[in-house]
Amino acid sequence: ADGHRLTEVEPDVWALADTGDESVPARVLANRSLLAQISTDNTLTQLRNVAGMPGAVAPALCMPDGHQGYGFPVGGVAAFDAEDGCISPGGVGFDINCGVRMLTTTLTYDDVKGREAALVDALYDAVPCGLGGGGVHDGTHADLDAALERGIDWCVEEGYAVPADRRHCEDEGQRLDADLDAVSKKARDRGASQMGSLGSGNHFLEVQRVTDVYDDDTAAAFGLAEDQVVVLIHCGSRGLGHQICSDYLRRIEQEHPDFLASLPNKDLAAAPAGSELAASYYGAMCAAINFAWVNRQLITHAVRETFADVFDAPDWEALGMDLLYDVSHNIAKRETHAVVETEDGYSLAGDGERVERELFVHRKGATRAFPAGHPEVPAAYREVGQPVIIPGSMGAGSYVLRGGSQSLGRTFGSTAHGAGRLMSRTQAKDEYQGGDVQDALEADDDIHVKAASGATIAEEAPGVYKDIDDVVDVSAGLGVGDPVVRTYPVCNVKG
Ligand code: 5GP
Ligand code: MN
Ligand code: MN
Repeated sequence: ADGHRLTEVEPDVWALADTGDESVPARVLANRSLLAQISTDNTLTQLRNVAGMPGAVAPALCMPDGHQGYGFPVGGVAAFDAEDGCISPGGVGFDINCGVRMLTTTLTYDDVKGREAALVDALYDAVPCGLGGGGVHDGTHADLDAALERGIDWCVEEGYAVPADRRHCEDEGQRLDADLDAVSKKARDRGASQMGSLGSGNHFLEVQRVTDVYDDDTAAAFGLAEDQVVVLIHCGSRGLGHQICSDYLRRIEQEHPDFLASLPNKDLAAAPAGSELAASYYGAMCAAINFAWVNRQLITHAVRETFADVFDAPDWEALGMDLLYDVSHNIAKRETHAVVETEDGYSLAGDGERVERELFVHRKGATRAFPAGHPEVPAAYREVGQPVIIPGSMGAGSYVLRGGSQSLGRTFGSTAHGAGRLMSRTQAKDEYQGGDVQDALEADDDIHVKAASGATIAEEAPGVYKDIDDVVDVSAGLGVGDPVVRTYPVCNVKG
């Protein structure tokens, strides 16, 4: 839309032409058709702006599912030097630690066929969703504080999680840097009544079946097989995370107006590295990250009990229901990466000597995808690579990938987080009618959807998303994430 010049520097890697600002290189990972879609909104301008932020480490990246977001593009990966750079709430997103987790089961599609309506109704009743309050755990503020501080550990203590769940979460489901003093009362109040709730709109709980296996050994390591029933849970930190993001955007305006004015665009609002505000935001963000892990875990607990009920099992363990992995797609973290020193700072690319630098890696609508052998990949998966879960849509497939061997060198260890939107929610509601979409999915594809409102179904209709197969092909071709299995929806609870 803004007439950016792009050059294909290698297959599916596009360089954004330098505009002469003090910017580091920016790259889009996409095939031609995805690139055409990415070019229709402000994504590329936003990417260019991100590349001009202080302490940006090259390259600023847009994943193949990218689209415009608040300040930073969704599908953006941006790393800033932890000493000379900055940290940005807009680079994380409003839904801090929005993410996905997958549960495996011992059920096959035949076990579920014919019982989809009962299953989707039971799940809808067990998991609070929509805009209303209430959660799986009806807790006190003391519970909330413990959850903010300890994440999944709190769930283990309360009987909502088993120790294996902790091992199968990114960062083991706990950020020890959480700082409760950095979380406002308003944020806490919003979180207290939402512990274990799906939320509205784009969040969902989907029962799926595995339709294709691309890599037998890795699938076996992940506990996945053809025809198996699995569950995908997508949600984040609800009102608490949103409030924290808003609080810090406002504080940046109040406390760092000059720094804000120096940024390429004010929506990029960032706190300079080393400032008190940067430390506070990091601590508050980590608390919201813990909250989101607790949230997905509490929903997991409700899903496990519901499955045991619907399928007449003595307990959920009898149906498997193991956590395969929980991975975030709206997050920032201090990570150490091997980079090359350049005239403008540091870069992931280049032949010079590599130095280890501590960076604030922002993944906004992007998924961590660490390769085999990385010490942060759980022991069970270390030989094959980190599980990477990429949802498609309620009418298309979703994928499980494994972190690819090229991910650290190309994308700071990241890949896409979904198919990515093609149109805005407003456009979607003009284009689709919720009831019709729901009826067609059931009649044509045997996919059973239940939602808090028809508008939600219209906003999330399969047609509003890009082609998930294309997104995964680009990721595979570049070696940043390799497909392991593909899944297809069976029933879906929409928030
Ligand atoms: P986001 O976190 O950006 O809201 O969504 C992540 C991705 O989830 C979207 O890019 C889209 O591809 C995918 N998605 C949205 N709704 C559904 C759904 O109902 N089922 C599945 N499997 N994927 C979905
Ligand atoms: Mn979210
Ligand atoms: Mn999300």
